[in-house]
Amino acid sequence: SIPVAIVAGIGRAAQLGILIKGGEFLETAAKITVVAVDKTGTLTRGRPALTDVVVLNPDLTRSEVLGWAARAEDGSEHPLAGAIVQAAAQDGALPEHIISVPGQGIVAAVAGHTVLVGNPALLHARGVRGTDAATAVADELAARGRTPLIVVLDGVIAGVLAVADEVRPDAADMVAALHAAGVARVVMLTGDGPRVAQAVAADVGIDEIRSSLLPGDKLDVVSGLRRDGHVVAMVGDGVNDAPALATADIGIAMGAAGSAVAVETADIALMGDNLLMLPAAVDLARRTVRVMH
Ligand code: ADP
Ligand code: MG
Repeated sequence: SIPVAIVAGIGRAAQLGILIKGGEFLETAAKITVVAVDKTGTLTRGRPALTDVVVLNPDLTRSEVLGWAARAEDGSEHPLAGAIVQAAAQDGALPEHIISVPGQGIVAAVAGHTVLVGNPALLHARGVRGTDAATAVADELAARGRTPLIVVLDGVIAGVLAVADEVRPDAADMVAALHAAGVARVVMLTGDGPRVAQAVAADVGIDEIRSSLLPGDKLDVVSGLRRDGHVVAMVGDGVNDAPALATADIGIAMGAAGSAVAVETADIALMGDNLLMLPAAVDLARRTVRVMH
């Protein structure tokens, strides 16, 4: 039978908007030594806005580059897609077909054309050539903390868009509170590139960065930490975080804005939009377990 203290702890957590899916997770949460945390949508708001449109194909206008990207992104669930679609004052041509490549971008069929929107890894995977200028522009934008998205129309580079996502106001407090609660290391796991990752990590006080990760890479980092003897909590919001959430000792989903897959996969869901619920959950778990022993 489940100890009374655990039942009470789960009840208290629920009142705070922390949904714990079983007593064992409360006990494990009390032992966390490393927190791995996703960037986009978790440390940042996940509501990025368009900041730049750089045209690289002289046959296209600025609004054509943005328009093709927006038509391609319409239907993608990724937070980056919303920024592009919103900025473009959509003209209604929807993609007939769209493939999401997690951690890299999208491939869409739109009005008889093929449009790619994503990072250099996507271009490489799809065999796009003549990418030097686009990569240079993308690097420059990333150095300023923006996420660059390269747009390719029928195999030819069209241009580069950039979006910026605001760091959540309570992200730095969350990291500090985790440290204070005795969590030795907070590691950022992101599919975004190293430059953007460094800009956000510096703002927030993250101990360690792993960038340019595919969903399987996030899983590998979490398993590696576990093999080293750590008790690992993974916090994320996206489809791309689900494998790592499932592999961690404790998977924690940002429930309010997170994807359904992340919430289903997680052991704990934080229902509010408040990052301080995470250290609160760790603290509650530790106090609950202390009462039992
Ligand atoms: P994070 O791990 O920080 O949440 P993601 O893995 O979701 O980031 O995304 C990583 C990168 O993949 C983005 O920075 C972007 O370059 C690319 N990407 C993912 N989805 C899209 C999309 N819908 N459109 C364009 N690029 C995308
Ligand atoms: Mg995310």
